[in-house]
Formats: sequence, C-alpha cells, structure tokens
Amino acid sequence: MINRWIELDMNKLVDKALKNDRVAIGRLLTFVERDPRRAGEILSLLPEDGEYHIIGITGIPGSGKSTLLSKLLYRYSKRGFRCGVVAIDPSSAFSRGALLGDRIRMQMHATNPNIFIRSVATRGLKGGLSFAGVAMVDILGRLGFDKVFIESIGVGQADVDIMGIADTIVVVVVPGLGDDIQALKAGVMEIGDIYVINKVDKSLEEANKTYEYLKFAIESGEIGGGEWIPKIVKTSAVMDEGIDRLTKYIDEHLETIIKSGDIIRKRDIRKKILVRLLAEKIFIDRLESIDINATSGNFYEEAVRLLKRVIEPS
Ligand code: GDP
Repeated sequence: MINRWIELDMNKLVDKALKNDRVAIGRLLTFVERDPRRAGEILSLLPEDGEYHIIGITGIPGSGKSTLLSKLLYRYSKRGFRCGVVAIDPSSAFSRGALLGDRIRMQMHATNPNIFIRSVATRGLKGGLSFAGVAMVDILGRLGFDKVFIESIGVGQADVDIMGIADTIVVVVVPGLGDDIQALKAGVMEIGDIYVINKVDKSLEEANKTYEYLKFAIESGEIGGGEWIPKIVKTSAVMDEGIDRLTKYIDEHLETIIKSGDIIRKRDIRKKILVRLLAEKIFIDRLESIDINATSGNFYEEAVRLLKRVIEPS
C-alpha cells in the first residue's frame, strides 16, 4: 500500500516536472541526490532519450566557470533554448550558494522559467556523487531541457569521469597559473573540445603565451585527435568578451558530432561510465558497512577475503 502511494506520488511529481514545475524538478533531483539508485525508477517514468545537448564545463576553482556559464545561459535562453545546470564544483558560485555579486547573477537566472540551476552537495565526494550528478543531467535532459550544463572542478579522475558524459567539453584555463599545468598532469587538460582562456583582461601577454602553448599541444596531437580539431578562445567573462565566439564553437562542435555520428558513440560511452560509477557506489557502500578487524596475519590474504565479501555479500 505504501509502495503504491509512493509510486502515485512519483507519477504526480514527474507530471508536474514535465510541466516545468520547478519545485517538482527540484524534488526529483533531491531523490537522486539522496539515493542515486532511484535514478532508474525516475528515468523510467520520463520520455525516452530526448535530443538534449550536454555541455561540460571544467577548470580549476576560480577560473571563472560560473561567470562564463552565466553568460552562456543568458545567450542560449535568449535563443529560446531551455537550459539546465548541474553544478558539482564545491567552489562554484552556483553550488556554494549566492554570495555578493553572484547573488545578482543567480537572481537574474532564478526568475527565468527557462533556466534551472541545481547544485549538488559535495560533502562525501565519493563514487555516489558522480553517479548522482550524471543521473541529474539525464533527468533534466529528459524533462525537456535542450542544453544541460554540468560544471565541475578540473581535478582528478572523478572529474574526467563526469566530463566523459558530456557531448561537448569546455576546459577553462586562466593565463599565468601554474595550477593549469597541474590540471594537465591530472588528465583533465587533454579532454577539451574547446579551450577557454579566461580573464584575458588581466594580462593579454600571459593569455597569448597560454594560447601558443595550447595551440602547440593541439597541432602536435598531444591534445585532440579525430574529426574535430579543438578550438581555443580567449575570453573575459566579466567584460562579456569572446562569449559569442565560445557559443559559436559550442554550436559548431554539436553540429560536427551529429554529422559524424560521434554523438551516438558518446552516449554509448556514457552508459558504460554510468555502470562503472554505480558499481563504485555500491562497492564503496558495502566496503564501508563491513567491519575490518585489525589482524596480525597476512594482510594481503585478508584483503582478498574482504574483497570476496564485498563482491558476494551473504
Ligand atoms: P569558478 O570558481 O571557476 O566558477 O569561478 P567564478 O566564476 O566564481 O569566478 C571567480 C572570480 O573570478 C570571481 O570573482 C569572478 O568575478 C572573477 N572572474 C571571472 N571571470 C573573470 C574575467 O574574465 N576577468 C576577471 N578579471 N575576473 C573574472
């Protein structure tokens, strides 16, 4: 009886969410955030794969991702696209809540019925979070958002995973920051379809150096490969410069991957990533639920036994 009630409630919620009821959309996403395994249940109630475009935005904290995203949202919504955002960057102006100037930026979008921004709590940044973030993107897409942005910090494997689900990946770098090179080492720098050199208003000279560096990396094949040659664009998000060109590149990239069929392949890759993320989530949950007794014996044998218990729970 209770199950049936929950089911009816979920159907109602989905109906409302499909009518762009923001509270309902928010509640659906909260379900997934709290228990990522409910994603399947919710997605099964939504229309089949829509034609949404997933745009990943990554880069180190403070590089200007949220500011850039704000400008993109403005442009795409003006063109009549419904835009959804999932921000899983703990530093993001979107996910850390509205502060000072950000508040104005947020409010501008909060009142726009065609923009829905959701931040994901970043406490316990482990397997499940990535899965929930990815599932939220799919839910927004199936609810009819045309452009779904996923924003996350450009550090580490989790970020590469999250970006792996995007159709178009925008990597934001700031000129003159050694941190970008760290990001490069972490693998994130190699995954961009479009590289944004932001904050050019601060130092055009540094921006040009970074430009040459990226240009060389692309020309030498260190970055990219395939039909699409990664693009580089210099921007000043605060001065609203270079954003039209960025938008143009994002549109061109989508056109290219539709024509080449890469968009289909990317979606197949996404399915694999999802399975892996879910497996990680289940694995970590189970591992944490098992008591590990300190033993003086051979730890490696113990580890194998532990692994068996995780894989084959009694
Ligand atoms: P995020 O952490 O990558 O999302 O970065 P934010 O968008 O929150 O930006 C971090 C700070 O850099 C904020 O104070 C922005 O106002 C500032 N900022 C963003 N873009 C630019 C830019 O193009 N030029 C300058 N000078 N500052 C910028």
